[in-house]
Order: sequence, then C-alpha cells, then structure tokens
Amino acid sequence: MTTIIERIAALGPEEPFFSFEFFPPKTDSGVQNLIARLRRMAQLNPLFVNITWGAGGSTVSKSLDLAALCTSELGLTTCLHLTCTNMEKKIIDETLSLAKQKGIRNILALRGDPPRGEEYWTPPESQEFMYAVDLVRYIRQEYGNYFCIGVAAYPEGYADGSNPEAQDPKIDLPYLIEKTVAGADFIMTQLFFDTDKFIAFEKMLREHESGIFRSIPIIPGLLPINTYQSFIRTAKLSHAHLPDRVLEKLDAVPSTDDEQVKQVGVDILVEMIDRIYNETCHRVRGFHFYTLNLERSVALILDKSNVVKTPLRLKLVSQNKEQKIEKPVSIESVLADGVKDVKITEKVAVAVPASEASMTAEASWDDFPNGRWGDPRSPAYGEIDGYGVTLHVPAKRALELWGSPETTADISELFIQYLRGTLQVLPWSEEEGLSPETKLIEGDLVRLNKLGLWTVASQPAVNGLRSDDNIFGWGPRNGYVFQKALIEFFVPENTWFTLKEKLQGGDSVSYYAGNSRGDFFSNMNASDVNAVTWGVFPNREVVQPTIIEEQSFKAWSEEAFAIWKEWQRLYPRTSKTSHLINMIHESYYLVSIIHHDYVNTNALWNFLQI
Ligand code: FAD
Repeated sequence: MTTIIERIAALGPEEPFFSFEFFPPKTDSGVQNLIARLRRMAQLNPLFVNITWGAGGSTVSKSLDLAALCTSELGLTTCLHLTCTNMEKKIIDETLSLAKQKGIRNILALRGDPPRGEEYWTPPESQEFMYAVDLVRYIRQEYGNYFCIGVAAYPEGYADGSNPEAQDPKIDLPYLIEKTVAGADFIMTQLFFDTDKFIAFEKMLREHESGIFRSIPIIPGLLPINTYQSFIRTAKLSHAHLPDRVLEKLDAVPSTDDEQVKQVGVDILVEMIDRIYNETCHRVRGFHFYTLNLERSVALILDKSNVVKTPLRLKLVSQNKEQKIEKPVSIESVLADGVKDVKITEKVAVAVPASEASMTAEASWDDFPNGRWGDPRSPAYGEIDGYGVTLHVPAKRALELWGSPETTADISELFIQYLRGTLQVLPWSEEEGLSPETKLIEGDLVRLNKLGLWTVASQPAVNGLRSDDNIFGWGPRNGYVFQKALIEFFVPENTWFTLKEKLQGGDSVSYYAGNSRGDFFSNMNASDVNAVTWGVFPNREVVQPTIIEEQSFKAWSEEAFAIWKEWQRLYPRTSKTSHLINMIHESYYLVSIIHHDYVNTNALWNFLQI
C-alpha cells in the first residue's frame, strides 16, 4: 500500500485531487450500508479516504475495522485518524501496531478532547500526550517513516468556543510549526466557508520565514451542504464564519426545500474549490470532503466542478444491453440508481446499473432531513462529525452554564430554564434554544420537567400540513407532511415502574426504556419499526425520514448516558455534584414514548397527565 504523499507525488504537476472522510456508523445495519456506499464512492476515485476516531478511543475497533476494510478489500489509500488524549497509551500502541499489520500507511495525528487535568478537575493519568505534536513525535520515534503523518490546522484559528472573536490563526502558528518540524507530511484543515480566510491562511504559511510550509500539501476540509438545518448546526459547532455571500445564496431559496438547498450548496462548494485552486496558483490542489457518510452532495459537486473531476465524469456511459447503445449519464443518476460495477475501458467508463431495488431505496434515505433519530439503517445516522460523545461546549463554559447542581431539583431547574429560553444549551442539546415546533409544546414539557421527567427530545403530532409550512415543512413543494407525537426523557427508577403500568394499559402508545446497566423494556417486538415523520409529495412514494426502532434507541441510550458521565467529569470526584450525577447515571432510565394517534394532536400530552 502506498502513502498519501507517494500518491500525490505520482500525480501530474498541479493535477487536482480529492479525498473523502467517513466515520464508523453507530448501528450494524448502518455499517453494512456504509460498506455498500463506500464501494460505490470508491468508483469516484478519491486519492485517499479518511476514517475518523472517536475521542478518548470510543470507536477503537470500529475505526480500525473500517480503515482495514477500505485498505484491503476496497484497495483504497486509507488514512486513520488517531487522537492521543484521555486515552490509555496502550490503545495508541495497539492501534499503531494493528494499523501496520493491516497495511494502513497513513495517520492523521490529533490531540482529541482537551486533556483532562487541564480543563477538567480529574488529574491526568499520563502527561505523555498533551498535544498532537506529542503523538507525531511518538509515531516517528516508534515507526520511523513507515507512516505518512497528517496534522490538523485551523484557517480561522483554533476555536475552543469560549470566545470565537479571539480566534486567530497566528496564535496557533507556533504549534503548527512544531507539528510540522516533528514530522508531519501534510496538513488538513478544519471545515470553513470563508474562502478569503483560507486563502490568507495558506499565504501566511507559504510565506513563513522558516520555509517549512513552502511545499507541504495543505488540504482544505470542505463540508458539502446537505440540508439548511445541518449546515447551520455544523458551522456553529465548528465556529466557522459564514460570509454574507454564502448566506445570501442560501437565503434565496426556501430553507425547507432540501433539494434547492442542496443545489445551491453544490454551487457554493464548486465556487470555493475554483477560487482556492486558482487564487493559490494551484499550490492547493487537493480537496478533502467531510462526507458525513452521505454521498449525494459530494457526487453533485464532482459532477459540476471544473477543478476536481472524477474519471467517471463525462466519460460515463450507460449501456443498453439489447440495443448496445451507449449514452452519457450523470454521476448523480448513477449513484441514485446504484452501480453494480464500473468497467473502465480504454476510452470510456461503462456503468452497469445495479439491479437490486434496495440500492435505490438506500440512495434516497439521506435526501431528507433526519430528526433526532433519523434512520438507523443510514450510515449517516445520528452523527455530526463522528468524533464521539462530547458536551459540545468547553469545560469552562459548561461550568458557567450549568453551575454545580447538588440536588435533583437543581437539575430539574436547568431543564426548565432551557425550555423557557433562559439557558442556552443542555448537555444533550446540539442547538441553542428550542426549535419552533418544540416551542408549541413548551407548556406540556415544562409541566413534565417539574414532575422530574427530564425531557431531551420531543415532537408534536402533525396531521397533514403543507410541505412549505414555516414550522413543520420539509421536502419538495406541493407535498404534505405528517408526524406522530413523541417524547423522550430521563426518569428515576421508581417513577419509571409506575409509568410502565400505565403504558402497558395504553393501546395507542409504544415505548422503549433502558438504563446504563443495560436493562431494557419495550411493548414492541425487536423487529418493529415506527415511522414517526413522513411526507407525501407529487410523483414519488411516501417518504419517511425519521423512524424509531430498537437498534436506534439502544445506540442513542448508550450515548445519552455517556453524556452524563462526561458532565460528571467536570467536577471533583468527591464533590456533591459528582455524586449526584453518578447516582443519576447509575439509577435513572431513559424512556421514549410514541403516541400513534397523530390525528388527535393532544393525545400524548393528555396521556401523560400524571
Ligand atoms: P493540537 O495541535 O494539539 O492543538 C490543540 C490546541 O492546543 C490549539 O489551541 C493549539 O494552539 C494548542 N497547542 C498545541 N500545542 C501546544 C503547546 N505545545 N503548548 C500550548 N498550546 C499548544 N477529533 C476526534 O476526536 N476525532 C477525529 O477523528 C478528528 N478528526 C479531525 C480532523 C480534522 C481535519 C480536524 C481539523 C480536527 C479533527 N478532530 C478530531 C478534532 C480535534 O481532535 C480537535 O480539534 C482538538 O481539539 C484539537 O486537535 P489538534 O490535533 O489540532 O490539537
């Protein structure tokens, strides 16, 4: 297997290239579907693919297995991400050794979450790995030049979220120099939408007096825009500046019309790539796509860009078996219809459309916005970046926001403040403030939280609203959308068992409940699937972007309890707050209830009059 650097060197001078990033899906069916997707996307011919690493080693075997599969089965040049903080050194050693055994030649060496002991109260177990540079040095010391090493860089400055105004790439420059001197072979950046900032950053590095950045590959990280909501959310979490130019383009189309948003997003990315390639005089010629395990937007970009091209483009033809007629097809249609095989002949690439209907179904799964639950069969299920469980805010800010609760009443108060808008975020919320649809049921949610049912997800019932509705709308125009009311909350063990009696008697409700010890209850069969959001649109089958079933509940439940543990780590082990959060983690249940009577929009809230 070759390294990324060797592959870049083998390209023609100034020849552009692109790479894809994937994360290990949470569910087994998601993994199976990602493998199918990877096979299709491999045919687009990325120079290499990256596989993310869950902070603190939370995805060790999943990340390694996926990277090994890409290397050995798909024959892709693969780069495994590896973080070094909040993890035993043993994991780093084992991972590097296994990576070598499996033929993986590239590592993106990262720090990961801030080392505990610096921002957290728990004393660090080892000071050996404090920053990414420590990992770069370690890999070089142990493996010489076997691994090609990449490091992260931040064109807008490193953001810890506490003061985005103070972000400045110059502050991080000495550390990027340190990482490069220690042995980095290439630099890969954080996602951004402000092309000017990236271009200025690249110039700053290239012109640095030391000369060390003169020829090192600097690969910009680009996030394809899939839906308006996910674009805003990810940009916010990454503290990426959104230039007016980008926002104006997106604001010109309805934010609920995913197809139009996606098309505008493609234009935005194509223009960014064009500008970067040309304005850096082709010094920057590699473009890394944070795919979020989604394929369509990336395919559309490759279809449209004049800089990054796949060999399938333009040359791609579909063959009509009977008539032996070859006609050009777009990458998009091939991905949507599924490709069984692509035969590269001397002149043309011939796409053989897949016969399996399942591929068509899969390609449409991600066309619509996923709710909290999404579709667990989708490889993209439930993720923002694939970096694992975090509090989404730095430790200092978390302490400012949530203080040091000492009783369950203090915790109830935090949940209520969040619902009322006086607290911006909770450990389980990815967005600041409630969504407009949740605002409509704020009164019911506050009542339940006062009773000690701490709500982390909910949606009201909807019985056929227009797809361009300001609050509930999604999908193409002239359609109608529906949803079942659902709620999810943490609750003490005794309250759960009382509630369970009531739930057993209700014939219009389905539930899942579980705790951190792995106890699990439900009134459904393991294979039951509930569509909780669906829509009907002209000229297509019913679309159901959000389903709930056992596998997805279990995956989320594990994560939801892990977030309690992350929160607990902010406090000294002997403190009252640490004991309180530990008690909740050990004894509470996470409960999810769906009410099937979506015609009676009050049904769930009346049922929960307890
Ligand atoms: P570092 O280079 O160590 O820098 C972190 C901070 O410490 C910066 O503020 C830097 O200025 C400062 N610093 C560095 N060295 C020193 C020093 N010697 N003294 C004082 N201060 C110093 N996270 C995951 O968990 N999994 C992933 O798969 C993953 N993939 C990523 C891919 C890319 C391309 C990027 C950009 C980020 C990724 N991350 C991932 C996130 C990353 O782990 C975080 O951004 C992390 O907080 C910083 O990592 P780093 O490698 O840039 O750290």
